[in-house]
Amino acid sequence: MRVWLGVSRNFNLATHFYENNRVDGTIPSYDMDLMKIVSRRREHSGDRRWRPLGVAGPHRENSECHWRRLREMDELTREAANYRLCTRCVMDSSAPDLTFDASGVCNFCEETREIMARQILPQDQRERKRQELINRCLDNGKGKPYDCVVGVSGGVDSSYMLHLAKLEFGLRPLAVHLDNGWNGELANNNIERIVNGVGVDLFTHVIDWEENRDMQRSYFKAHVINIEALMDNAMLAVNYRMARCHKLNTILAGTNASTEGFRMPKGWSHDARDKKNIKAIQKRFGTIPIRTHWLQGHLDYLIDKRIFGVQWISGLDYVDYVKAQALEVLKDRYGYRPYPYKHYESIFTRFYQGYILPKKFGVDKRRVHLSTLVVSGQMTRDMALKHFETSPYPDAKLLHEDLEYVLKRLGFSRGEFEAYLAAPAVPHTAYPSESAFYERLYAAVRRLRIAFGGRMFNEKF
Ligand SMILES: [Zn+2]
Repeated sequence: MRVWLGVSRNFNLATHFYENNRVDGTIPSYDMDLMKIVSRRREHSGDRRWRPLGVAGPHRENSECHWRRLREMDELTREAANYRLCTRCVMDSSAPDLTFDASGVCNFCEETREIMARQILPQDQRERKRQELINRCLDNGKGKPYDCVVGVSGGVDSSYMLHLAKLEFGLRPLAVHLDNGWNGELANNNIERIVNGVGVDLFTHVIDWEENRDMQRSYFKAHVINIEALMDNAMLAVNYRMARCHKLNTILAGTNASTEGFRMPKGWSHDARDKKNIKAIQKRFGTIPIRTHWLQGHLDYLIDKRIFGVQWISGLDYVDYVKAQALEVLKDRYGYRPYPYKHYESIFTRFYQGYILPKKFGVDKRRVHLSTLVVSGQMTRDMALKHFETSPYPDAKLLHEDLEYVLKRLGFSRGEFEAYLAAPAVPHTAYPSESAFYERLYAAVRRLRIAFGGRMFNEKF
């Protein structure tokens, strides 16, 4: 009897743990959670003696399986006891480098407030800076068909940036889009509506599908977390290359502090400019060499910036950017149709963020995206928390369709994918990487700038 009471007490804590960490959107109940814990343990240990018993009878109390279950429950209890949720945003202890102050506010909140204070200027200064930016683009565009490059993904931020550049800033932007073969129909429609509605030229770089597919497969085989680095890196390369090609010095991007100010927790992502890492992973796991895929490493970035003078500007920081209002403008003016979550314009990104990240890596990126909105005052914490009552996937039918589609396109069988999910993650740094070197270099330059009072290097490195 004493043993069973022990299970009950641990079980309540375990239920609490799963309530806060569940990714499949089911409403937990006592029995459901017991089933879930047991089936997860079965999955992880591969031990078929783990059976969902419902309520353990006294006859099982002396079995090895029963005692093992108690030990597992103890582990879960410890995890549950360590579980913490920030009192201001929705970051929780699933982020490894999260710390809390005495009032339960996390370090990410504080860092983000500092970033926002630095990047989001008071209105008078912002207007002056915006005018300087517009003048810089207009000067640069003299005698050329365009004044700047605007990268568009089909998401709200970049679509609104394109609208602002043309209609509010009075510029002649060239819209640049990277098509990696995973755009949803909705994203293509949105891009078409925005580009035609705003009335600008669109350059679309279509990635060689066979090469991209092989590189994505390599990332799966390498078990590294940032599969999207391939897309993000190519997107950077395409934007910078088009700016250079048209001799333009400004890329106006939809990146911004008020909806993207949160940094990613350690281990939740990896440097998208790590060209060496991309090449090394493909060399080790790929079946074809990289021939046509555009890449941008840190050295390429420094050459683009210091020699060709191309600047990446987070254009939305130059206006009072409120995402919900921007979405209304896009809907009313261009018939734009929104996605359920950030970055869900790509089918692969949706599947990666909504399924692979939580399932294999224990990461729910909604925590970062929604926390940014909470800290910038664009969403209440209660509203953000409500999102975690449902799955990161809009609906189960779509998840099933996406799963089938992604596996078919990448050429993985269901068994291979299950084995991939069950295998442990491998850090990017297990493969050759250029990130650490450049991080040290940037840090040294920052120290020099401070030592010389900013006079030696008067621009961002
Ligand atoms: Zn926080």
